[in-house]
This record gives sequence, C-alpha cells and structure tokens, in this order.
Amino acid sequence: MLDELRAKLPGWVEASRAKAREGDVASYIPELAKAPREALGVTVMAADGQTVSAGDAELRFTMQSISKVFTLLLALMDNGEEGVFAKVGKEPTGDDFNSMLKLELVEPGKPFNPLINAGAIAVTSLIRGDTPAAKTARILAFFGEAAGGARLDVNLDVYRSESATAHRNRSLAYFLKDNEVLGDDVDVEDVLGAYFRHCAIEVDCGQLARMALVLALGGVDPVSGRRLVPRRYVQIAKAFMLMCGMYNASGEFAIQVGIPAKSGVSGGILALVPGRFGIGVVGPALGAKGNSTAGVHLLETMAAELDWSMF
Ligand code: GLN
Repeated sequence: MLDELRAKLPGWVEASRAKAREGDVASYIPELAKAPREALGVTVMAADGQTVSAGDAELRFTMQSISKVFTLLLALMDNGEEGVFAKVGKEPTGDDFNSMLKLELVEPGKPFNPLINAGAIAVTSLIRGDTPAAKTARILAFFGEAAGGARLDVNLDVYRSESATAHRNRSLAYFLKDNEVLGDDVDVEDVLGAYFRHCAIEVDCGQLARMALVLALGGVDPVSGRRLVPRRYVQIAKAFMLMCGMYNASGEFAIQVGIPAKSGVSGGILALVPGRFGIGVVGPALGAKGNSTAGVHLLETMAAELDWSMF
C-alpha cells in the first residue's frame, strides 16, 4: 500500500490542486488571508511510522479548529466524561461552526458539541492550569507529545490577529458565561486567550499526520508504543470527528470519504484510517462551508482509490 501511495500521491495532489481555484483563503482572521491560496500538501503516516508526503507538505499553518479534537482529549483526561458532558452535548448541529442558533435549544446555553466554537470554548475552560499561561503550556506539551515529541509553538501573529477581531467568539463566550456554562471562577477573557492560542498552534502536514496516527491507533504513540490517551476518550473524539469534524459538510464527507476527519479554517485537515494511517493535509483555499476545497478533493480521491471508507 505504501509503495502504491508513494507512486501515486504526487499525481493525485497535482490533480486536486486545481480545486483550490473554487475556494478562497479565510479572511475573517486577517492574518490567515496571507496563506498561499494554491498550495496543497499531504503526509500519510502508516502504523509502523513510515511516511509518504507529496506537494507542499512542508508548509507551516495553524491548527485552528483541528486543535479542538486535542483540547477535548485533554479536558476529558482532566475532568472525566461526566465533567465534560455537563458542559457540552453530544450531537451535531448542521449549522456553521460559529453559529449561535442552537445555543438555547438543549439546556440553556449548553453547546451541542465540543467541535463548534461555543462548545470548544467551554471545553477550553475545563483544561487545568492555575494561570492562562499554565493552561497554554499544558496544551502545547500535550499537542507536542501527540506530534511525536515535537516542540510546538503558538503563531503569535495569527493569535493576535484573531484576538483583535473575534467579536463573534467573544459574544459566544459571554453568552456561555451568562448561562453559567462558564462558571463563576472562569474569567471569560482568559478562556478566550487560551482558545485563540490553541487555534494558532503551528504545525506541518507531517506533525498533523503523526497526531492523527495516535488517534488511529486508539491513543497509543506509533513509535514508542506508549499510551498517551485512554482508548475510550479517543473513541469519543473520533465519533465527534465523524459526526461534525467537517462542520456542516460532515454528512457529505462521511458519504464521499467515510473516515473521521477534522478541518480548520487555515485549510488544514487531520484525517485517519482506523488502525492503519494518520493523514495531515493542507490547502488554504476554503469552500463555502469552511473546508479546504483541494484538500477534500484529495481525500475523496485517496479514499476512493485505496478503498478507505469505513462503511
Ligand atoms: N479560531 C477559529 C475561530 O474560532 C477556528 C475556527 C475554525 O477553524 N473553524 O473562528
């Protein structure tokens, strides 16, 4: 399979690159608009740690919403399932990632799931850390460990750019505070600061593929064999990825590709084939629903050619 991938991946990347012209880079976070629109890169890491890369796999980009999968895992390890699901639900919304439409519908103010912005902000509030800096340090350490011992950092330009323009996320967070989803002890700006920072953690496709492979292997590091996350929590995260990892295009992605994935507005996509592969993709031009147009096309091609659908 890896030999076939090595031979065919560059051609599939070049064939998908044209799809970038059907999308555009995110600009609501001004710094993200500087990304190269026609870039497309991918790394696939097999269960034995071997990798195959093609295209602009070296491009560095911020995780954005992809980070929400790993902050969920950290919050689950810090608080257990009961603690986390007291604050967020387990259902997809079918709405945009930054929607406020359904916040009043379950229990007052309780976000539908941990992958929409409102839910992810609530999850970030649950991560332990005495100060905002301590919380961010724990997040960076955990993400770095999942990326194979990488030293990851926050892209401060992207962080500042989001923080300065995040009126909608601020309003979501204050709404959560009003409804006591963010408790009395929680400072809203501190939580937002930690949230913007984890969204701005910078990676490349190889690091994303390695993080994905940890999920594919049920929480175990592919090289050291060490368990990083309890299997149950990884199952929960993968179920959310399948249901709502590609925002309100998750149903179509499940039909066309059929594997758990999580996208971000930087154009990154983390995907995995259970038990077999971790995949990192980047293609900064996004379609109407916020997913990389070229990246989704590439994953569709790979899943069809290599028979990856779980279904
Ligand atoms: N930081 C981004 C935001 O909150 C993440 C959103 C995304 O990638 N969909 O708007």
